[in-house]
Amino acid sequence: MKYLKKKLTIENVKVDYIAKKYGTPTYCYSYSELKKNINNFKNSFRSFSPLICFAVKSNTNVNLIKEIKKFGLGADVVSMGELMMAIKAGINPKKIVFSGVGKTFDEIKYAINKNIFLINAESESEIKQIEKIAKLKKKRIQIGIRLNPNTDAKTLSQISTGKKENKFGVDSKTFIKLINNYKNSKNIELKCLSVHIGSQILDHKPYEKMLKSIAKILEKIKYRFEFIDLGGGMGISYDNKQKSLDYKKYQLVIKKFLNKYKSKIIFEPGRSIIGNTGTLISKIIYIKKSGKKNFIILDAAMNDLIRPALYGAIHRIMPSLKNNKISNENHEFVGPICESTDSFLNLKKFQELRENEIVVVCDVGAYGMSLSSNYNLRPKPIELLIKGSKIKVIKKRQRHKDFI
Ligand SMILES: *Cc1c(COP(=O)(O)O)cnc(C)c1O
Repeated sequence: MKYLKKKLTIENVKVDYIAKKYGTPTYCYSYSELKKNINNFKNSFRSFSPLICFAVKSNTNVNLIKEIKKFGLGADVVSMGELMMAIKAGINPKKIVFSGVGKTFDEIKYAINKNIFLINAESESEIKQIEKIAKLKKKRIQIGIRLNPNTDAKTLSQISTGKKENKFGVDSKTFIKLINNYKNSKNIELKCLSVHIGSQILDHKPYEKMLKSIAKILEKIKYRFEFIDLGGGMGISYDNKQKSLDYKKYQLVIKKFLNKYKSKIIFEPGRSIIGNTGTLISKIIYIKKSGKKNFIILDAAMNDLIRPALYGAIHRIMPSLKNNKISNENHEFVGPICESTDSFLNLKKFQELRENEIVVVCDVGAYGMSLSSNYNLRPKPIELLIKGSKIKVIKKRQRHKDFI
């Protein structure tokens, strides 16, 4: 996204034009950013050619998954719905991993019927369930066991998953027990050790610690895994100040690990692939002065983008037209929903704004539309994919009659 003659543009298309033609609020993705992210990811880790499985929960749009698939990526899914969507997008089941603490009998059966690559189990009960279905089907099923490495990812507590107080994975003692119980199983093939310590991780050090925990376990057991699944969590820059995760440093740490413990690596990135490709275009409905504050009331709300309300996440907001007139008053950008948490951003300084003007909320490609809802019975936004000068509707705007 950049300003051309003061007009904000996505690739070669002006944001104001999109707003006029397709209405607001509108999710808009940039193909060139997506391509850049995927190629950068692949190149950074190519020395050990990992299997890269896109975390579908970060963005479930089938047309985006289709584009991601064209770069050879697989998928990491966490429900039967996501598994169906990945298959619908044409992802090869041999590149699909299934994660999650609460997979039901039906979900496991479906995954087994589809012959997916790997089920990452997160408890002994789940392994028993998988074994039961595998026996019924007379199959040997490849599984990973998710280790909880008790590593602090140094990210928001709500998106941290690798500490012992988090519900994910099994502790090292249980992990070792499970390996001993299942290494000679007829219906279960222990293929992978999996971890995923959290999301929006900006420093490589938590990953380094995580690899140390894995190494410690591998030292204790004789069993050798063909695959190590390091999960996702690679952080991106949301505010232009923080730096995104340094892939080079992470790569070096993994290389060191692989020198000692030969295995193939799996990654499950979501945010780092799709996060900065998306913007939410919105119109200012009203501006309300209240004491020393200006409430900028947008037509986008927490049902369209819940990250600020849910985690206190920060997303930059930019005007579609630069006017260079700075206002030093307090601005709070809010949505129309009847919740005080329906607020996107507080700023001391912004350019002067007017009602009916267009603004964009930045970096909403991950956990934006996929976490949207119909709260307050608001229809969900349209989704567009921009490629150069071309605009493709990749999901229609929901209409009231779709649910009334
Ligand atoms: C959410 C999740 C991911 C993706 O996380 P990002 O921060 O979007 O990269 C990967 N693996 C598992 C198991 C997850 O739950």
